[in-house]
Amino acid sequence: MKKPWESFSATSAFFDPLIKQMVNRWVLLLPAMNLCHWYLRSGGCTMCGFNCPKSSKQQYAWIARYFGARALHFVYWLGYLGVKDQNPQNLTIYNGGSFLNSGHEVFGSKPEIPLSLQIAICRHIGRHPTIQKLFVESRPEFITSSNIALLGDLLKGKTLQVGIGLESRDDRVRNKILRKGIDIGNFRRAIATLKGHGAKSLAYVFLKPMGLGESEAIVDAVRTIQFCFETGVDEVSLSCAFIQNGTEMCRQYRNGSYKLPQLWSIIEVIKQTAHLGPVRIGTFEDDPKPIDIPHNCPACTESVNRAIDRYRDSFDISLFSQLSCPCRELG
Ligand code: SF4
Ligand SMILES: [Zn+2]
Repeated sequence: MKKPWESFSATSAFFDPLIKQMVNRWVLLLPAMNLCHWYLRSGGCTMCGFNCPKSSKQQYAWIARYFGARALHFVYWLGYLGVKDQNPQNLTIYNGGSFLNSGHEVFGSKPEIPLSLQIAICRHIGRHPTIQKLFVESRPEFITSSNIALLGDLLKGKTLQVGIGLESRDDRVRNKILRKGIDIGNFRRAIATLKGHGAKSLAYVFLKPMGLGESEAIVDAVRTIQFCFETGVDEVSLSCAFIQNGTEMCRQYRNGSYKLPQLWSIIEVIKQTAHLGPVRIGTFEDDPKPIDIPHNCPACTESVNRAIDRYRDSFDISLFSQLSCPCRELG
């Protein structure tokens, strides 16, 4: 029988390119006090399904609504009890929004993760015998000198890494097509703030936004990855489009005006950027479960996916050199 924490807390092997080794990663899906700040303010990004009614985020929103911040502390400790004996080396927290939004950083924002819990987690990790790194996600406006300094102190020299969804360097693609509402200057400031306090950064780069053909999408992703490393980002994760119900991207996919990227395009982006710095390939799984994911023709999809999986565990681009199929030339 499934244990009570297994749906939101688990460990698995994971390649960390910043230390070039496999680590035992604890992934915790943490409910938040409120939905993503940007979703509440604007309706959210056009490809994001985290806030859709069917997402577990919406389904578990009652926990914080009825029991307040203490319930989130309880979820954290229950999740920890479930993985404690597995000696995790890395804690990755996904809250489907901004972990660093405590309600104090941006005027008028509703808190996602209360400061008391941010502090409790960092204090715990700072004293933990095996966990060496905490990874969280945040929009750039919630990354401030004071919260990064405070959390960094509590972590006592362990690594803090913050993932930011830049998605595209191009203002039109990022803010009109994907509706991210991210100012490029604010992104640069956030990266500099993290660096200034010895924290690491990761930028999510999106492949393939709506309205861009296959080759335009490759160019957009390659240029964005170049920009990220020039700006001082430590690691990039290529977020390959997949379809989740309830998004604008899903609407265009259903009416035939949007097609998912091919696996070949993912490989092309990696080949053109791997020399610049570590570029991860994001998985094609999420919550809610995607209804379609990137693929090639039926003859090669499985073998190319296998190579992509092996790349995720090694960042070795030579895995892609032997792959071929007639569908690659057809585009
Ligand atoms: S992608 Fe991130 S910022 Fe955009 S709506 Fe989803 S959770 Fe919020
Ligand atoms: Zn093929």
